[in-house]
Amino acid sequence: MDDTWLRLTGAMRVDDYLRLLPKTELHCHFTSTMSAGRLIALADKYGVELPTTDPEQLFAYTDLADFLVAFRAATDVLREPEDLAQVAYDGVRTDVADGSLRYREYYVNPQYFAPKGLDYRALLDPIIEGLRAAETDLGVGFRIVIAINRQDSPGSAVELVQTMLDNPLPEVVGLGMDDLTPELTEDPGRFAEAYALARSAGLRTTAHAGERPVDSPENVRVAIDELEVDRVDHGYRIVDDPELTARARDKGLHFATTPWSTTICSGWTIDPSHRIRAMIDAGLSVSLSSDDAVFFRTSVGREYTEALPLMGLGIEDAKRLTLAGIDGAFCDDDTKASLRARFAAEMLALNAALASA
Ligand SMILES: [Zn+2]
Repeated sequence: MDDTWLRLTGAMRVDDYLRLLPKTELHCHFTSTMSAGRLIALADKYGVELPTTDPEQLFAYTDLADFLVAFRAATDVLREPEDLAQVAYDGVRTDVADGSLRYREYYVNPQYFAPKGLDYRALLDPIIEGLRAAETDLGVGFRIVIAINRQDSPGSAVELVQTMLDNPLPEVVGLGMDDLTPELTEDPGRFAEAYALARSAGLRTTAHAGERPVDSPENVRVAIDELEVDRVDHGYRIVDDPELTARARDKGLHFATTPWSTTICSGWTIDPSHRIRAMIDAGLSVSLSSDDAVFFRTSVGREYTEALPLMGLGIEDAKRLTLAGIDGAFCDDDTKASLRARFAAEMLALNAALASA
């Protein structure tokens, strides 16, 4: 806990500071930026049957596998270009208002959409159109990372990377992977060929690994050593391997962590013993994200205003984490430099407001 935290007299001020702090978000699945209301409305529009239209029940899961069933169903309501563009735009607007979002990277899974008739460009073009409009109107930069769906085969993943290379888009800068294999494992090494192809073409890479108690620290090691990722999503089990933790720290490897989702997917309580806190204490480069905001009823703002204090962290930690998100981003160096300058200016203004309060 830092000194600034201790000097504050009212919880409301801390909450306001954390909400107003400019934020990056690196670990955000595009589908999950849809609001609950829009999800239910689109399901109704396209005759997609949801288990319930009560958000309290719709977003109740017991574990990661259970959640993924709901997530895959939700992709079914995203069909028309205007819906994709509107979801993209509205998601930015909401998080600017609620959490001072300034830059975000999105994971998009074309393999979920292709069987429903939306090919790569039909999916990506309207998303990019919506995000560009939001960038123009709201000043929130973005990049897109194409995510391998681990339900599908390694060969399908290689085809996906080839599709990326055949359809170059300046906003699409990286490859990731999410979901679970049909055996409900992470098994990052299964997709090594796709990662090698992506790296050889100059794409940046990341991977979901070491998320749950059942996912070995070895999965994080495979992602780092064999897939040679530029950053790791989750990666919580790394703290159970001190040698790997030291190596990741020494090379400045970034971890895009998602506190709130761990309460469901990993079964953990958010408190000072949380693995994300241990990763921060071990000197790893860590940022906070919402992962699947609508499904976990969170937001990038809430990760800072609620999860961060629950881990026993304060304002100075929050500043370090959001700046670390710029370090871990896949955008170009000029974009990073302008983000750092903007964040520094906003933090100075916030600090002045705090000092005069
Ligand atoms: Zn994720």
